[in-house]
Amino acid sequence: MAKKSATAKKSGNEHATVPFFQSVNLSFDKASAAMKLDEGLARLIKSCNSVYQIQFPVQVGKEVEVISAWRVEHSHHKLPTKGGIRYSEMVNQDEVMALAALMTYKCAVVNVPFGGAKGGICINPKNYTEEQLERITRRYTAELIKKNFIGPQVDVPAPDYGSGEREMAWIADTYMAFKGGEDINGLGCVTGKPIAQGGVRGRTAATGRGVYYGLKEVVSHADDMKKLGLTPGLEDKKVIVQGFGNVGYYAAKFIQEGGATIVGIGEWDCALYNPNGMDIEAVHQHRLETGSIKDFPGAKTLARTNTILEKPCDILVPAALENVIHQGNADKIKAKIIGEGANGPISFAAEQILLEKGVLVVPDMYLNAGGVTVSYFEWLKNISHIRFGRMERRLDLIRTTELVDSLEALAGRKFGEKERNMLLRASSEEDLVNSGLEDTMIEAYNEVRDAKNRYRSAKDLRTAAYIASIEKIQTAYQQLGFFP
Ligand code: NAD
Repeated sequence: MAKKSATAKKSGNEHATVPFFQSVNLSFDKASAAMKLDEGLARLIKSCNSVYQIQFPVQVGKEVEVISAWRVEHSHHKLPTKGGIRYSEMVNQDEVMALAALMTYKCAVVNVPFGGAKGGICINPKNYTEEQLERITRRYTAELIKKNFIGPQVDVPAPDYGSGEREMAWIADTYMAFKGGEDINGLGCVTGKPIAQGGVRGRTAATGRGVYYGLKEVVSHADDMKKLGLTPGLEDKKVIVQGFGNVGYYAAKFIQEGGATIVGIGEWDCALYNPNGMDIEAVHQHRLETGSIKDFPGAKTLARTNTILEKPCDILVPAALENVIHQGNADKIKAKIIGEGANGPISFAAEQILLEKGVLVVPDMYLNAGGVTVSYFEWLKNISHIRFGRMERRLDLIRTTELVDSLEALAGRKFGEKERNMLLRASSEEDLVNSGLEDTMIEAYNEVRDAKNRYRSAKDLRTAAYIASIEKIQTAYQQLGFFP
């Protein structure tokens, strides 16, 4: 029997037969054909520039375990390269290459001046103690340092599936131990760090928040919504979110705060469904208390978790794993808009089925780019060695106070206390980060939409996003002198 691809094993479906990297390249090819890209340039952009495969020993209990890991730098057209590190026993080279390529296109789409990269450590973090995980992370970092695969000017990792700010702090500390004496920008070697270790406020929620800003912008275009039989705005939309982790939880929270109704949540062990909506904070609290979303009193628990994808809703946000929408279930999806919170949640074949049904697919490389956008802000903070807003905050406050006082004098009346407090609220670092993120998501969506309008053969947003991204990478290579 043919061996199942790792992505198929991971998502538990039998339909994801095209390897992930090939699937990313199929989407690329569709876009490069639409824009009649030079074949040599297309080959250059698609290929992974550096693939580093490592096997390293780590003492685990009384045994020495040999751990497989990767770091892939997909494109050096801009440096540093950037991308998360996935801790998963299903991770493999093909997956890391695919995710690194997606990072290149993602950074270009949202105008983050980095090349794409990705890392993977082939372990199930649940099988290790915190001390063992720290040893694995530090050893992995040392291996990256050895071959110059990490550094604020070279390659900057971040969290991904199975890793978080704790691991990023260990990476930063290991890098500083080796390089701190010679690299004043050393803290910029990794992003997604805790605030006290050089992180930036707003990073934890950034990807989910970006999903919200992106979808808000998507549904704001009345003519696009009309084609789907929807009205503009989030307010009357019913939304299902699959995956209630970092991306899914924050996306659901902000989408609900934005006025939509969350009717479904899918997790690994079960799903929740209530056509009248459920309170996201209450679900979050229930999970903190019981360890699962199961039996949340405000919704029906569905034992077959993947059936949540097929329930009626306006917007479906898969925010857990890749290839969860495949040839076997694409036809059963009822959502009119699918916003990809996760990386690669729709297989290439499934997307063709969805597009024929008239579903608007908002692609991962745009919609989940909030994380890398705010990572870019964190990196800027690290290399500029100052918190955002520190220099101008007090001056802004003084100027606004003078302006408000003058307005009151001119109008001959005082603002109410609430209005005055609102006007005189100085921007915090988090306000600035969120504002930069919202602006980035709005600008990038309009560039993608513009590419779709410029190329008649770009019939879907993924192809348009690839075009918007490829155009920028093409310009970089042309200006570097590789292509006329
Ligand atoms: P996470 O580990 O915080 O959350 C994933 C959630 O999905 C967990 O709650 C997990 O229990 C759940 N899950 C696992 N298997 C499932 C299944 N079969 N059905 C439903 N739920 C399941 O990970 P994350 O950081 O939220 O990442 C999720 C996805 O988003 C990944 O594809 C990742 O690459 C992508 N992404 C993450 C970021 C980021 O900043 N964290 C940025 C861009 C893209």
